[in-house]
Amino acid sequence: MKTSNWLSVINNRGPVVTLCVLLAFFLGGCGRSPLAAVPTLMPAAFAPKGATTTPTPLTLVADGQRQRDVTATAVPTTIPTPEGRGIRPREAEQKYLPDAGPQPPANWRPPPYDVPLAFHPDDHYWLIRPIPSGSRNFDLEWYPFGNDVLASSLPPYRIHHGIDFPNQSGTPVLAASSGTVIHAGSLPSPRDGVNYYGNTVVIQHDWQWYGQDVFTLYAHTLELFVAEGDYVAQGQLIAGVGSSGEVTGPHLHFEVRVGQNNYNAARNPALWMAPYEGWGTIAGRFTDRRGRMVGSASLQLRPLPLLDEDLIREQRTYDLTVASDEAWQENFVFGDVPAGDYELFIDLNDGIHRYRREVTVYPGQTSFIIISDNFDFYPTATPIPTAVPTPTPLTLYTPPEIATPEG
Ligand SMILES: [Zn+2]
Repeated sequence: MKTSNWLSVINNRGPVVTLCVLLAFFLGGCGRSPLAAVPTLMPAAFAPKGATTTPTPLTLVADGQRQRDVTATAVPTTIPTPEGRGIRPREAEQKYLPDAGPQPPANWRPPPYDVPLAFHPDDHYWLIRPIPSGSRNFDLEWYPFGNDVLASSLPPYRIHHGIDFPNQSGTPVLAASSGTVIHAGSLPSPRDGVNYYGNTVVIQHDWQWYGQDVFTLYAHTLELFVAEGDYVAQGQLIAGVGSSGEVTGPHLHFEVRVGQNNYNAARNPALWMAPYEGWGTIAGRFTDRRGRMVGSASLQLRPLPLLDEDLIREQRTYDLTVASDEAWQENFVFGDVPAGDYELFIDLNDGIHRYRREVTVYPGQTSFIIISDNFDFYPTATPIPTAVPTPTPLTLYTPPEIATPEG
């Protein structure tokens, strides 16, 4: 190949072709590691020990017009200099503009990673999503775990102890991991007997976490394909999405319970379900100066740079009645975040305590941040710091007497 064709090759082909052309020229093949030393004309001072000690004058002919003498040692005599300047593989990469291809359909997500997944010692992505790829297997954005419903147009629901997957009735519901079905049927509330959850499956898994049993719960189903006592494999069809119980539309309400099979043992499923390929999770803890969790503070996550306002995500730190993960001790989680750089705004809603943190999301793992400062947080209905704050005992949350989308 004549070297005068190199630039046109680089400009018209993809990066692999470009790199292969360059590396093939330099290294004699594409099978070698790109990290192998790319031959460079070395000053004699940097010649490796043991190399030929007598400098060998070389004459390099670049394009038939330019000719120069170079003194080097132990360098192959056949290295060309394309276009007289040379383009290193890294420069070629920078010239490559990836073609993203056609836009994926709205709400498309990559496939999740295989489980179990734990790049970080505290990660425990052991569950698959209970809804298969091809249906909506990510949660409802305006009703996050540990939050009340965020839409101002809606009346308060109750603090969410799970996550919701809106889908058409009959969409397959899959066992998130293997274990024994310990409940299959309606699930009246022990408090008032109302069947909020509707047709519900509870699986006790055949593994433990921090020495405790782990359960997953699948509520509001249309139909059940398992019975109490059945052993189920991960990914097995156990039910169909429905709208049984107290709901406003068909969806799966999914809970992860640790230690005990009850409402108060729920943890954030986003720390259990494997992220999508190339996506990760942000978890964190917002505390006062004594390390006490600050509940219901406003959070806003914005990609850097912000190319689309629709990508802004908002939620609140957990209500103080909600349990944290054993490993992370978090009070907020943004699940399903594409890898990249973000800025997180935290606002105590008092006009005073506002924070900004930058955080990088890495594929397949959790990025954890702690936000704390020199203030005392007293959980009241409207936390307003004063010069001499008055401690107020925590008031336990009382569910409103309205129809709710979950039990
Ligand atoms: Zn729910």
